[in-house]
Amino acid sequence: MSDNPGRVAVVTGGGSGIGRVTCARLHQEGFQLGVLDLDAATARESAGEGIGLGVDVSDPDAVSEAFVAVEEELGPIDVLVNNAGITGSAAAARLHETPLGEWDRVMAVNVRGVYLCSQAALRSMLPRRSGHIITIASVAGMVPFPARSVYSVSKAAALLLARSIAADYAADGIRSNAICPGMVETPMTKWRLDQPDLRAQIEARIPLGRVAQPEDIAEAIALLASDRLSYMTGHGLVVDGGWTVR
Ligand code: NAP
Repeated sequence: MSDNPGRVAVVTGGGSGIGRVTCARLHQEGFQLGVLDLDAATARESAGEGIGLGVDVSDPDAVSEAFVAVEEELGPIDVLVNNAGITGSAAAARLHETPLGEWDRVMAVNVRGVYLCSQAALRSMLPRRSGHIITIASVAGMVPFPARSVYSVSKAAALLLARSIAADYAADGIRSNAICPGMVETPMTKWRLDQPDLRAQIEARIPLGRVAQPEDIAEAIALLASDRLSYMTGHGLVVDGGWTVR
C-alpha cells in the first residue's frame, strides 16, 4: 500500500539514470509526478499519468512556466527532487585545464538549477506551510572527486544550499535534505564503468565491493519523500557503499 496517495512530487532530470528509477519508485509509492528534463520525450515517459516537460533547469523562465504548469495540472507541490545534474565535458578536469564555459555550464545546471527549482517549489509550499526539498548532491561535494574540480565545487554548493533552505524554512513547516551518492551506474558514469580496469579500480575502493545501482539511490529518495523521517532536516545522507569511510 502506498503511504502517499495523490501527493505531488516534481523530479528534475527524471528522464534518465537515478531520476528515471526515482520516478518509477515514487509512482509506486502513490505520488503524482511532474517530471522536468531537457528531453521532453523521456520526461513524459517517466511521468506516466503525471506531467512530463522539456525544461532546462538553469533557465529561469522555463522553470517558472514548468512549475505553474505542474501546479495547474496536479496541484501544489509536496516534494521536489533536485536531481538534474551534469559533470561537464572531459575538459572540466583539474582546475588549470577547465574552460570557463564548462565551469559556467556545470555551475548553471548543478547550482543555479537547484536554486531556481527550489525557489519555485518554495513559492508553492509556503502558503500551505508544508513541503520537502530533496537535493541530489554527491560525496564529491564532501571529498573532491579527482580531476573533477567544478563538479565537486558545484555539489558542495548544492549540499550547502540544501542545508541553508533547511535553516531558513523550518519555521514555515518546510524541510530540506540532501542525498550524497557515491559512484552509481547510470549513463553519466557508463563511460568509466564500461572499462573493466577502471571499474575494478573503482570497486576496489568501495568497502561494499560494488558500485551503486540507481535503485539504491531511489530507495533513499523514496524514504525521505515518504515523510517517515519527519524530524530530519538539513541532513546530507551519504549512500556510498562506505566509499568515504576510508
Ligand atoms: P544521468 O543519467 O546523466 O541523468 C541526468 C539527467 O539530468 C538526464 O536526464 C539529463 O538530461 C538531465 N539534465 C541534464 N542537464 C539538465 C538541465 N539543464 N535541465 C534539465 N535536465 C537536465 O545522470 P545520473 O547519474 O542519474 O545523475 C543524477 C544526479 O545524481 C545528478 O545530479 C548527479 O550529479 C548525481 N550523482 C550521480 C552519481 C553517479 O555516480 N551517477 C553520483 C553522485 C551524484 P539529458 O540526458 O537529456 O541530457
